Amino acid sequence: MTPEEFRRHGRQVVDWIADYLSTIEKHPVRAQVAPGQVRAMLPAHPPEHGEPYETVLADLDRVILPGITHWQHPDFFAYFPANASGPAILGELLSAGLGVQGMVWATSPACTELETVVVDWLAELLGLPERFRTDSAGGGVIQDSASSAALVAVLAALHRAGGGKVAADGIAGRYAIYVSSQTHSALEKAGRIAGIGARGVRVVDVDPETLEMDPGHLRTLLEADLAEGVVPALVCATIGTTSTTAVDPVRRIGEVCREHGVWLHVDAAYAGVAAICPELRWINDGVSEYADSYATNPHKWLLTNFDCGLLWVADRRPVVEALSILPEFLRNAASESGEVIDYRDWQIPLGRRFRALKLWSVIRWYGAEGLRAHLRTGIELARHFAGLVAADPDFEVREHHPFGLVCFRPARASDEETLALMERVNASGALYLSHTKVNGQVLLRMAIGAPATTADHVTAAWHTLRQAYGEP
Ligand SMILES: *Cc1c(COP(=O)(O)O)cnc(C)c1O
Repeated sequence: MTPEEFRRHGRQVVDWIADYLSTIEKHPVRAQVAPGQVRAMLPAHPPEHGEPYETVLADLDRVILPGITHWQHPDFFAYFPANASGPAILGELLSAGLGVQGMVWATSPACTELETVVVDWLAELLGLPERFRTDSAGGGVIQDSASSAALVAVLAALHRAGGGKVAADGIAGRYAIYVSSQTHSALEKAGRIAGIGARGVRVVDVDPETLEMDPGHLRTLLEADLAEGVVPALVCATIGTTSTTAVDPVRRIGEVCREHGVWLHVDAAYAGVAAICPELRWINDGVSEYADSYATNPHKWLLTNFDCGLLWVADRRPVVEALSILPEFLRNAASESGEVIDYRDWQIPLGRRFRALKLWSVIRWYGAEGLRAHLRTGIELARHFAGLVAADPDFEVREHHPFGLVCFRPARASDEETLALMERVNASGALYLSHTKVNGQVLLRMAIGAPATTADHVTAAWHTLRQAYGEP
């Protein structure tokens, strides 16, 4: 493709995206295709001869769009939001345009240094401690996901817990990590990948009402392990659990970790970005004093399309020691000078994209005040929705909804009836929501936070649900 051809097709693609986003409401939110339907419309074999780009764009409309679930649709309320935004999409395009592979500083200094600046900016916006800033012993890094962030934290924590020997010797001894039933499965996955095995993952009790981790039970489990000669490597506290956005008592968990020198990872994948709003800073209580690592995902609620997950550590040394291997072909003067950061040593893969451009675009376009306004809109709409549900005697709503997620259910329905209600509204294409289970009971999850969602969409979603359940 020549630069002139690229210019022409590039304009077509940008126009296509702008048209898509401005007419997104004409699509049913959830894809209406059956399994295999998209595949059946695609040729089984790759083309021998190149094709005009227009044919790709035509197939995008004809084959791909019907198989798309529209995450940017204002009536998308399932899972958590995965916001995209104009500046994020443009930042992504610029990153692809530069085509940089930023594995070490020397392979493109701006890729590393912009990332350093942007993660420090975000640490400041979130009110994270000085220890997480790059000009301290710690620092931040952009990962592909909170799952990778958790794995890096587990590996660094094992390295520290093993007295620096785990990287060389493997898991010769026995180690444990501590989660709750509400912790994201990414932590058990990290434990499995790290070699701790699912058996080394301890599940701490939660308060049955609030679903917050019980620090007293954490202490009991830690001490039982220590008595057995098992080394506690890491505790994961969650700020905003995936199921119900419960907020673990980080300070009290941190006190227990401190007593026993255990690494505290704070997983704030969805909700952490809310701390940009001063009135929500309370969610980080205890992080400054106790967290060894902290992860949050701009790719959920912060207007930055997937992927962009941030990880900060209070001490970069165990991360780098756990992950750094220096083959001859990567030796270079800048790395050896010790004056630069090589982010390859802060992540699982070697190669890395220039993701900082995307986050930089977003933060500069919106500014802190624009980011706050977006978050506050989501929180306000969640309150609005919770109010509508609470006012209906046929429904009950969980009182805890400090962010954009509201959990609720028809008060007298069985789990099967609740799930059937969800399937009816989701199949209609009018909105899309998901569910969870709390104390054995199915709850519906209404996750608000798409930039296009307004109070009218939320009110209409409630009316659709109410009608699908049956007239009062
Ligand atoms: C979404 C989520 C994750 C997983 O995030 P990925 O970036 O998709 O790996 C982890 N923890 C929590 C609390 C989440 O909500």
